[in-house]
Amino acid sequence: MSSSTVITNIAALVTSDPSLGDNSPLGLVRDAAVVIDGDRVAWTGESSKAPATDNRVDAGGRAVLPGFVDSHSHLLFGGDRTEEFNARMSGRPYSAGGIRTTVAATRAASDAELEAGLTRYLEEALRQGTTTFETKSGYGLTTADESRALRVAARHTDEVTFLGAHIVAPELADDPAAYVALVTGEMLDACAPHARWIDVFCEKGAFDGDQARAILTAGRARGLHPRIHANQLSYGPGVQLAVELDAASADHCTHLTDADVDALANSRTVATLLPGAEFSTRARWPDARRLLDAGATVALSTDCNPGSSFTSSVPFCIALAVRDMGMTPDEAVWSATAGGAAALRRDDIGRLTPGAHADLTLLDAPSHVHLAYRPGVPLVRGVWRRGVRVV
Ligand SMILES: [Zn+2]
Repeated sequence: MSSSTVITNIAALVTSDPSLGDNSPLGLVRDAAVVIDGDRVAWTGESSKAPATDNRVDAGGRAVLPGFVDSHSHLLFGGDRTEEFNARMSGRPYSAGGIRTTVAATRAASDAELEAGLTRYLEEALRQGTTTFETKSGYGLTTADESRALRVAARHTDEVTFLGAHIVAPELADDPAAYVALVTGEMLDACAPHARWIDVFCEKGAFDGDQARAILTAGRARGLHPRIHANQLSYGPGVQLAVELDAASADHCTHLTDADVDALANSRTVATLLPGAEFSTRARWPDARRLLDAGATVALSTDCNPGSSFTSSVPFCIALAVRDMGMTPDEAVWSATAGGAAALRRDDIGRLTPGAHADLTLLDAPSHVHLAYRPGVPLVRGVWRRGVRVV
C-alpha cells in the first residue's frame, strides 16, 4: 500500500498546467498544497482545502514547481575538452570538428568509465532539479561503440536517442555515403532495440538535408521517433525537415527564416532552445520571443556535452533565456518543465496535474521568478522523483 504526503504552506505552486490555479500558462496556485500518493500527484490546490494524508511536509512559504525535463543532453563521452574551451574563449571560432576529439576518447573509454561519467552528471543535474533527462549516443560512431553507449544510457533513462549521425566517422570522412549506409544499416539494426529516438546533426560539415531525411526515415521504419539538431550554426533545411517528418523536436533553432518560424508554429514539432551552447561558444542567441509570438511551442534544455555546452543546470538556462532571449520568467519555467515534456511527447511529466508522476522541486525562494532573478545561486532545496524525496 502506498503512503500519501502533503507538501503544504507553499507560497507559489507552479503546476505548468493552464487548467489549474490562476489559469495562466503556468497554472499558478498561491498559498498552495500538493498531495503525493505513491509515485503520483494526487491533488493540488489551496492549502486550506488539502485532504488528510499520512505524512506532512511544511514548505515554509517557499515555491514548488515540477521537476525539470531536460530533453537534450549528450552525457556518454570520454575525455576532456577544457583546453578547447580555453582556446575558444581566447578567440578561436567553434566548428563541428571538435566532436572528433571526444570520439577518440569515448572509443578508448571502458563501459564502466562511460557509466561513471553518466551517473556523475545525472546526480549533478538532479541536485539542480532535473527529474527527467534525455541523452544521446554520438561519440562512438561505430556499430559497437554506438550500441554500447545506448545500452549504458538505457539503464538510467527511458529517453534514449540514437545519434550515430552526429558527424561522419573519421575513418569514413572521405566517403560520407558509406557512413550514411552504415548508420541506416548495420548500426541502426544494432542500436534500434536500445533507443526510443533517432537524431541527426543537420548542419554544414555534418549531414545535409537529403542525408538527414534518409537517416531519420530509416530510423522511423525501425520504430524510432525523429528529432533533429537543426539550424544551429547556419540557416538550413533542418527545421523544415523536422516538420515534414513530424519530429518531436527541432533542437537549437538559432538561425530561422520566417518560413521556418511559420512551419514550427503550424506543427506539433517543439522548438527546443539550448542557450548553454550559445553561451559557451559566444554565439548569437536564439530568438525565443519570435517563436513564442508566432505561436510555436518552445522547450528549454541544457545540451549538456563536453564540447559546446558543459552545463547540467536548467536554472542557468532559464536565467539566460530570460536575460538574453526575450522570454518572461513564467515562459522560461514552463518551457523547462511542460515544454521539455512536449519535446519528448510526454504528458505524465513536467506538470503537477493529478495523475502525473510526482516529480517536484522545492526552491529556497518564495517564487519561481527567483530562478532568473538570482542567477547562479543554488536555490534547489528539495527534489522528489516518482514520489520519493531524493534531495
Ligand atoms: Zn546537442
